[in-house]
Amino acid sequence: MTFENSLNYANQLDSNDILRHFRNEFYIPEVNGKTSIYLTGNSLGCMPKAAETAIQIEFNDWKNLGVEGHFKGTNPWMYYHHFLTDNAAKIIGAKPIETVVMNQLSSNLHFLFVSFYRPTAKRHKIIMEVGAFPSDMYLVESQVKYHGFNLADSIIEVKPRKGEHTISHQDIIDTIEEHQNELALVYFSGVQYYTGQVFNIKEITEKAHACGVIAGFDLAHAVGNIELKLNEWHVDFAAWCSYKYLNSGPGSVGGIYVNEKYANDDTLPRFAGWWGHDEDSRFKMLKGFIPSKGAQGWQVSNAAVLSMCVHKASLEIFAKAGIENITAKGKQLNAYLQYVIEEALNANPKLNLQIITPDYPERGCQISMLTDENGKALFDYLTDHGVIADWRNPNVIRVAPVALYSSFADVFEFGHILKNY
Ligand SMILES: *Cc1c(COP(=O)(O)O)cnc(C)c1O
Repeated sequence: MTFENSLNYANQLDSNDILRHFRNEFYIPEVNGKTSIYLTGNSLGCMPKAAETAIQIEFNDWKNLGVEGHFKGTNPWMYYHHFLTDNAAKIIGAKPIETVVMNQLSSNLHFLFVSFYRPTAKRHKIIMEVGAFPSDMYLVESQVKYHGFNLADSIIEVKPRKGEHTISHQDIIDTIEEHQNELALVYFSGVQYYTGQVFNIKEITEKAHACGVIAGFDLAHAVGNIELKLNEWHVDFAAWCSYKYLNSGPGSVGGIYVNEKYANDDTLPRFAGWWGHDEDSRFKMLKGFIPSKGAQGWQVSNAAVLSMCVHKASLEIFAKAGIENITAKGKQLNAYLQYVIEEALNANPKLNLQIITPDYPERGCQISMLTDENGKALFDYLTDHGVIADWRNPNVIRVAPVALYSSFADVFEFGHILKNY
C-alpha cells in the first residue's frame, strides 16, 4: 500500500471507510476541550453511547419490578447470558455451544485451568511466552504450586532470541516438540500485550495437538482486534475480557470458549456453581451437579446484569459492523500508523524510537515503540498535545487505534504531533 502523509489524504481514507459512521456511536474523551486522539483502545475502549440506554433499561426494570425482573424484565435476567452468546461467538469464530459470557478474565482462566491443566508426574509442564501479562504469570505460578509442582521444573518460557524483541514462531514450535513428552499444557496470549506480537494460534494449536497436548489462549488483546477462528483452529479453551477492544466498560464481564468436543464431557473436573447446572433442573435445588452442555456448564454464578447489559450493547455494535470489516479496517489503520511513525522518524532526528511490533500478519491494531531513557518525556509531550497513549515500564509507548471509532485523520494527527517533537 502506498500512503500520503497529508490531512487531505487521511480525510479521503476516512470518506472511503464503510465503518466511519460508527465513530458517532462512541464518546471519545476530550483533552483541553478538544476531542483527544485516543490510542488506548487496547487498554480501555471508549464508551458506546448505547451503554447508557442499556443500563437505564436494567435500572428501570429493577426499580419497577424488583425481583420480578428475573422473568418480567425487558431482558429477563434469568436468561441473561443467552442474550450475548451468539454475538460473542461471532467475534471469536466459535459456535454458540462453545461460548459463554461470565465472570472476569483471570478468574475464568483459573476455572479453565482446573479443567484443562491436569498435570501428572510425567506430564506437568506448561509452555508459555516470557514476559506474559502479570495476571497470567501469577495464575500459572499458582496453578503449578496448587498441583504440588515446582515452578522451575514446570514452567517453560519461550524467549526472544538474543538481540530480538519478539518471539520466533519457529522457536515456539520447536520448544513444544522438544518437551512434548513432559507437557501438560501449551498456553499463550493471542496478542502479546507489551510487544503487540500476534501469535499463530492455529499452528501452535496444531503442534500442541500433534504432541498430544492441550492448547489454551488468553485473548485479552486479540478479541475484537484480530481475526479469530477458534473452532476451525480446534483451540481447546480460551478466555478474554470485554473492556479493551470490546468497549464494555472498566472491569466489565469476561467470556470463555471451550471447544465443542468437550460439550458433553461430564467427566472433566471443574469447579461448579448453580449457574453451570443443567438449566431445566437448576431450580429443583437438588444435590448432584449436572453440567449444562458446552461452555455454559462452566458458569458458576448468576449473571452480573449491570455489566453484562453494557457488554450486550457493545456486542450488538460488533454484530452490526461485522467483525470482518472491523479487522480489515484495523489492518489498514495500523499500516497507516506505521507509515506516519516512519515519516516522523525520518523527519525528526530527535526521535529515538524503535518499532518492536513485528510486521503483518504478526500484528493486530497496535504498535509498540521502544524508547530511550528519555522516553517518558516524549510520552508526556504526546499527552500534552492531546494524545491518549499508553506508557508501559520499562520503556515502551503503545499506540492502538481502534477500527470502530478511530479515524485515519486521528492517525495522521498523531504522526504530525510526533514529527514536531
Ligand atoms: C488485560 C489483561 C488481563 C486482565 O485480567 P482481569 O482479570 O480482567 O483483570 C489479563 N491478562 C491479559 C493478557 C490481559 O491483557
